[in-house]
Amino acid sequence: MSAAGTPFVVSGPSGAGKSTLLRRVISEDPGVRFSVSHTTRPPRVGEEQGRDYHFVGEPEFRRMIDDGEFLEWAEYQEHLYGTSREAVSGPTGQGLDLILEVEVEGARQLKRRLDGAVFVFIMPPSPEVLEERLRGRKSDAEEVIRKRLERAREEWKAIDMYRYVIVNDVLERAEAQLRQVIAARRVERERVLPSLAAFDFG
Ligand code: ADP
Ligand code: 5GP
Repeated sequence: MSAAGTPFVVSGPSGAGKSTLLRRVISEDPGVRFSVSHTTRPPRVGEEQGRDYHFVGEPEFRRMIDDGEFLEWAEYQEHLYGTSREAVSGPTGQGLDLILEVEVEGARQLKRRLDGAVFVFIMPPSPEVLEERLRGRKSDAEEVIRKRLERAREEWKAIDMYRYVIVNDVLERAEAQLRQVIAARRVERERVLPSLAAFDFG
C-alpha cells in the first residue's frame, strides 16, 4: 500500500514568481502535479484551457458553487477562482503530490478543510522588485497592476498561516528550496510507513 499524495498550498503576491517557479518544479518531477483551478478571468496570452485553468463563465462557476463542487473558492480582483474537489481527490488518491496555487482567502478555507496539507508562501525579495516583475510580465493593465500591489500588502498579513516561506530572489535557489520542502514531506513517517508493511518485526 502507498500513502496518499500531499497537497502543497502555495500562495504569495501576484508577480512574486509563483507560476514560473511551480512550472519548473512540476516539469522535472513526475510525482508532482498542478491542481488546475476554475476561474472566470479571461486567459492570458500563452495560457491554455485545461492546463493553466479551466476557464468558465460566471453562470457555470456559480452553478458549481451551488452544487458544492468546490473545496474552496474566492473572489480576486473582480474574478472568481476556485479549486474543485475533483482537482484534489484524483491526483492525491493516486499517491501524487499536488500543488494548489491559491490566494490567501482560499488558503484559509483549505487550512480547515484539507488535512495534511503543507502551506508555503512565496515572497519577492522587495516591494520594488515585485512591481518591476508585474510590469515586466506585460500581461496586465496599469490599473490591474496597481490593485495587485495593494493586495500584496494585505496578503503579507496572512503569512502566519504558512509553515514555509521562500524568497524568490534567484530563481534557481528558490526552486531548490521548494524541492527541499517537497522532499522533506516525502520522508515524513506517515508517508513512508504504508510502503514498509512487509517490515513486520512483530
Ligand atoms: P506569479 O505567478 O506569482 O504572479 P509569475 O511567475 O507570473 O508570478 O512571475 C512574474 C514575472 O516575474 C514574470 O515575468 C517572470 O518571468 C518573472 N520572474 C519570476 N521569478 C523571477 C526571478 N527569480 N527573477 C527574475 N524574474 C522572475
Ligand atoms: P492569476 O489571475 O494571476 O492567475 O491569479 C490571481 C490570484 O488567484 C493568484 O493569487 C492565484 O494564486 C489565485 N488563484 C488561482 N487559482 C485559485 C483558486 O483555485 N482558488 C483561489 N482561492 N485562488 C486562486
